Amino acid sequence: MKFQLRSYQQQAVQATIKHFRQTDESAVIVLPTGSGKSLVIAELARLARHKILVLAHVKELVEQNHAKYQSYELTAGIFSAGLKQKNLNHQVTFGSVQSVAPNLEQFNDFFSLVIIDECHRIGLSNNEQDQQNQYQQIITHLTKTNPKLKVLGLTATPYRMGLGWIYQDHYHGFSRNEQAVFKQCIYEMPLSLMIKQGYLTKPSLVDAAIAHYDFSSLCAQPSGELAEREVNTLLTKYPRVTQAIVEQIVQLAGGRQGVMIFAATTKHAQEIIDYLAQYLPDKPHSFGLILGTTPHEQRDDLIKRFKRKELKFLVNVAVLTTGFDAPHVDFIALLRPTQSVSLFQQIVGRGLRLAPDKNDCLIIDYANSGFNIFSPEVGSSKPNSDSVPVLVNCPICQFGNTFWGKVDDDGAIIEHYGRRCWGIEYGEHGEKQRCDYRFRFKECGHCGAENDIAARVCTQCDQAIIDPDQLLKNALKLKDSMVIRCSGMEWRQDTKSTTKLKVIYYDEDGASLSESFDFQYNGAIRAFNQQFGRRLGQATTPMSFETVEQVLNVTNVLIAPDFVIAKKQKHYWQIKEKIFDYHGQYRKANEL
Ligand SMILES: [Zn+2]
Ligand SMILES: [Zn+2]
Repeated sequence: MKFQLRSYQQQAVQATIKHFRQTDESAVIVLPTGSGKSLVIAELARLARHKILVLAHVKELVEQNHAKYQSYELTAGIFSAGLKQKNLNHQVTFGSVQSVAPNLEQFNDFFSLVIIDECHRIGLSNNEQDQQNQYQQIITHLTKTNPKLKVLGLTATPYRMGLGWIYQDHYHGFSRNEQAVFKQCIYEMPLSLMIKQGYLTKPSLVDAAIAHYDFSSLCAQPSGELAEREVNTLLTKYPRVTQAIVEQIVQLAGGRQGVMIFAATTKHAQEIIDYLAQYLPDKPHSFGLILGTTPHEQRDDLIKRFKRKELKFLVNVAVLTTGFDAPHVDFIALLRPTQSVSLFQQIVGRGLRLAPDKNDCLIIDYANSGFNIFSPEVGSSKPNSDSVPVLVNCPICQFGNTFWGKVDDDGAIIEHYGRRCWGIEYGEHGEKQRCDYRFRFKECGHCGAENDIAARVCTQCDQAIIDPDQLLKNALKLKDSMVIRCSGMEWRQDTKSTTKLKVIYYDEDGASLSESFDFQYNGAIRAFNQQFGRRLGQATTPMSFETVEQVLNVTNVLIAPDFVIAKKQKHYWQIKEKIFDYHGQYRKANEL
């Protein structure tokens, strides 16, 4: 039999073969939901001479992947207690990690490849430690028979809040995360490209919302999730908003086939169901609710009825973000906060499958998260509500980094929060290394090396780096010390000596400190360039200044220190320290 691969599926297969010919390092392929990754699996299995194991974290996904595979008139085995099958007699076995890990004694054949589906979930179950270990146990066991076992992960979203990027390096030549589970991303097909090429339905992101929630005041836990109780408390501030939103959803759902409603909490979901009942008095069986606690049979039944379009509205709380496949969905209503572009894309992805009589998918974000499915994932949580992804080129390797930042009305970057460039450079012998250019840094007082702004020990000389908080704390205690929370600077050429540059630092109340750099001395020039020239334009356009005139031409892009510390001398205050790129517990100027 023969199946026809789309060009990107073919490319993904070729990338896999090429990668594993060169190395045994684990790899990730990023393919959006609906891209037909089962065909990629089928083709890899066809080309492989040995056995392949395809792992998933839940039995539903095992079953779904297996069924898809068999639909190409291929036969594969299932190894899942939940599906009551433990068949290892085929070249391809679809298994659930929970069933395979405790039965490793049955896996003594030579497997050439392990494919992990939804691989961003590794280490994210409730018994996080356990599942991570289970994947590891399986890999370790299979490696005993095949020391060159290959591990391939498949995912639509290679990034998770709280965990970060799941791979270390990307084939486009940049790094993402130095402690990732997977080594390399070897192929990526972005969602936006799938839509452009017509493989997915186009989303209609309309701002038709009559009312919005504002979740921006909530703080995420370290995992990136919001605390349910806080969300519930916040929602009580919007007594009528939910009602108005549900009324609008019912109205807009008129010409739609299937509506998915994403609620913020269980209580919120119940409230939505109550309003649906109120607005659909003659259709009491057209809506359903799925919670994390809904028993499996009931959940399966609800999903079946939704797929048969008996239910038109399906309300859920965070359970149908991945693995759920109902192509006819053409309206997605988000009534919950989404903290990352990836999560937003996961949710919206539920509505982008192609289906008969479906022209687009209506998407309304009632939480106003401001995400767009075409925006890139930045890789860290949004630092404040007005941040947007900005493109920052590295002045050394030219790599275009995506960082959070702020832009003015014309889209020009005012500020960015990037720390270190993610570009990859190749050494003399072709070895890969991450570009070490830093946009923000803390200079080591011992050797002068640039370190991360949160570093405690210098990466070059291993000596302790002075803690800026300690410095500030000490200075604030001393009577003969003065600390300025710098909110502005003034630059002047000395009236008497044209080589002298005077800098005045102001705090929010107008208090000031000043110092001079005399450009006829090399030492002063060096100090000036290391402090100010190096950081010009948020370190995107570093420059070595030679004259005072050159400096006075670019004062608008000179970066001010966050704090200036001075010590009282007989007749004046002498500046002892300037703290740039501050990262710590004290408030900076113009911050709340
Ligand atoms: Zn770089
Ligand atoms: Zn050092």
